[in-house]
Amino acid sequence: MWRFFLGLSLVLSSVQIASAQIQEPCAAAHYLNHLEATHPGFEAATRQVYDRVRGQGQARDFTLVTIPVVVHLVYQNEEQNLPDSLIEAVLDVLNEDYRRLNADAGQVREDFLPVVDDPFIQFELAGVERVSTTATFELDILGGTLPDNVKTTVTGGSDAWDPEHHLNIWVCNIEGGALLGYAYPPADLSHWPEDASAPSPALDGVVIHYEVFRRTGTFTTSGLFGLEDITVPVRGRTITHEVGHYLGLRHIWGDGLLSIFGIPDCSADDGVEDTPNQGLNSQFSCDPTNNTCEEGSGDLPDMWENFMDYAQEDCQNSFTFGQIEIMRSVLDNERAGLVGGSVSTREGLLPASALQLYPNPATDYLIIQRDNTASATVRLHNAQGQVVKQWLSCTQNRLEVATSSLPAGLYYVQYISREGQLTKAVVVE
Ligand SMILES: [Zn+2]
Repeated sequence: MWRFFLGLSLVLSSVQIASAQIQEPCAAAHYLNHLEATHPGFEAATRQVYDRVRGQGQARDFTLVTIPVVVHLVYQNEEQNLPDSLIEAVLDVLNEDYRRLNADAGQVREDFLPVVDDPFIQFELAGVERVSTTATFELDILGGTLPDNVKTTVTGGSDAWDPEHHLNIWVCNIEGGALLGYAYPPADLSHWPEDASAPSPALDGVVIHYEVFRRTGTFTTSGLFGLEDITVPVRGRTITHEVGHYLGLRHIWGDGLLSIFGIPDCSADDGVEDTPNQGLNSQFSCDPTNNTCEEGSGDLPDMWENFMDYAQEDCQNSFTFGQIEIMRSVLDNERAGLVGGSVSTREGLLPASALQLYPNPATDYLIIQRDNTASATVRLHNAQGQVVKQWLSCTQNRLEVATSSLPAGLYYVQYISREGQLTKAVVVE
């Protein structure tokens, strides 16, 4: 367990641990190191999984897959109750980074151009849950617990939507350290120890600190252990990184045991052939001379462009093909339920009475009436499937839409809730 390493390092060097913790946006490294300690041979076994994945020899012609996303905003005050526009902006970041459509993709250094690629993965917002809470969500460094209480209603959080078919993302104020986010790797990877994955399916998904759940901004650490605050730029890449873990990726530096203490560990590997051997995380640096594992001729520098490193978010821009193969294999196997169909067929059908549209045909206005006020997503699509208007985390049971300026034709109203979905047609004249 990562708490052990943190506790041990406190004894060894309070400065190093403070530094390690502050520079450690996500808890996976500690966890994986714990696994190697408690399950000797874990590294080798994991390697076998990656070898199996790579052995499948997929060609670079992936079909585009869509992962439905549910964002749970669990807030203690209005500042944390982020607006829909911000949720959409973060979904845009995911959709750019996982399609290699990010504007900074061209900034990858020439050394890595041959290996970077488009994962052909996109994300679609299925729902937004907003939960006001008085609970706290705390990383207990010494006690070794993650704030999974954000994932259940009874503990002041928000229950997951069916985790087999949705990527649940909880956004909250993570207290107790500079933890920006965390995610569990997939369950049911036969070569992983059982406790590598989420403690239960309902706890699977990604947790993100609300201050980094945005497209642009800064994040300031809270001066742990008496150290000075550090302010780093935010470009929405914490979510890209954590979704990478959720889809089976490890840190590019391989989470070596020594790296916890700031010592390059070149024997640890991320199990991906086309990433360079890297002994440390890049610690928010984007220095082209960074090279923690020098290995003679043909050696590559550290790849701080990689989303699975800890460089500054504004110099992260790429996944490698080896990483993409792993994520695609996970979506074909361990997390196949995520991409088993379109959102419209995945949620199950609500009764027809759950949604009324009138007048139909509509001329000047359309009333969208649903049978309750539970949080839901409502979208108005045109016949080409384009979203004309949408309401995220909608808690009104009656919406009035001006239709006089819409081109005449057939439209569809899509209603998605935790209980299921329903789509009905309406004619605009
Ligand atoms: Zn991580």
